[in-house]
Amino acid sequence: MKFLVVDDSSTMRRIIINALTKIGQSEVVEAGNGREAIEKMGEGGIEFILTDWNMPEMNGLDFVKAVRANPSWQKIPILMVTTNAVQEEVVEAVKAGVTDYIVKPFQADTLKAKIESLLK
Ligand SMILES: [Mg+2]
Repeated sequence: MKFLVVDDSSTMRRIIINALTKIGQSEVVEAGNGREAIEKMGEGGIEFILTDWNMPEMNGLDFVKAVRANPSWQKIPILMVTTNAVQEEVVEAVKAGVTDYIVKPFQADTLKAKIESLLK
């Protein structure tokens, strides 16, 4: 299964990729912002997206909206990994098309559990 990990922090991308490796998922494409992520989506084959919210150039919320605007990308699970945790923000993200949400900092096990439940 091909994952797209989008975060402007390379450290955070590494943490997420390590969690994916622990659940046996090693096929990962990385992007540093939403614009780059759209480019990677265009290359095809992405089946699961993990995205940050706050990023330069194109943030995670706009990226999610762009993904959901494409009919062939509507069913791809999107897990948002962010520090934006107030209720209104969570609601906004869900409205934009996020499938699930995890707040930074998180435990590796929590991320693992979220990913596994979305894969079911
Ligand atoms: Mg960020």
